Amino acid sequence: MTIVKTIEEVRAQVKAWRAQGLTVGLVPTMGYLHEGHQSLIARSVAENDRTVVSDFVNPIQFGPTEDLATYPRDIDRDAALCESTGADLIFHPEAEEMYAPDFCTYVDMDHLTKGLCGKTRPIHFRGVCTVVSKLFHIVQPDRAYFGQKDAQQLAVIRRMVRDLNMPLEIVGCPIIREEDGLAKSSRNTYLSAEERQAALCLSRGLNKGRAAIEAGETDAAKVRQIITEEIEAEPMSRIDYVEIVDWNNLEPVDSTEGSILAAVAVYIGKTRLIDNFIIER
Ligand code: AMP
Repeated sequence: MTIVKTIEEVRAQVKAWRAQGLTVGLVPTMGYLHEGHQSLIARSVAENDRTVVSDFVNPIQFGPTEDLATYPRDIDRDAALCESTGADLIFHPEAEEMYAPDFCTYVDMDHLTKGLCGKTRPIHFRGVCTVVSKLFHIVQPDRAYFGQKDAQQLAVIRRMVRDLNMPLEIVGCPIIREEDGLAKSSRNTYLSAEERQAALCLSRGLNKGRAAIEAGETDAAKVRQIITEEIEAEPMSRIDYVEIVDWNNLEPVDSTEGSILAAVAVYIGKTRLIDNFIIER
């Protein structure tokens, strides 16, 4: 496995693979890899001849008051995890490699990016769509792998690929959790021991909501209330949103009978955590 820092090196390597008729999978990440990322890499390794992992904390998807400066980084640990999982190449550019000083071209999306995380993070998905488009152009993969952990991101990327006719397949992968239910996240490292316990209110609330639906509750407002109450019972929590939306277009729904996404964003102390479940019908 090799680590490269320039676009030119990625292109040269992928060109050589293509000349041999090999297929290429891409796993875009911001690094500080855990078992969630690892599951995406393993899936790509299983489904493609070669796997590229991008490891890049993308500055343009962070708002001015967000955690760009403190976002955890550890490329040596990431490299070991990628190698042991069977990845072939890590693309680990500096911000200057990705964004020229006079960079001014962005990929933006209406509707899907306005609700959920887009409400509190108004420039986030523009940054995500732009960097993911760049990575698709740089690597030109056959398939790219995204976690359901970031469900809105997965929906947005799928829509971007459809709307802009990008020639690759987007593969969504299930949420990997800690044993006690907390969704794995690079940001979990911010949590104190006490906050780590408090953070369980997200998965606990979602589990209660899902159980209610499985028991026959079809009123989305009631399910939302069940999830909200469980999260609010945790004194260290502050809800950003609890939403139940149509999984196809991310519009709020009144009934839980179709394909739905139940998603939450909750501050535990200063750390903003997200989690969700999807019921596809
Ligand atoms: P990030 O490094 O946080 O930008 O995440 C990179 C990719 O890994 C995204 O597609 C995430 O959805 C995915 N991912 C992060 N955490 C998890 C998890 N716990 N389970 C599955 N996928 C995840």
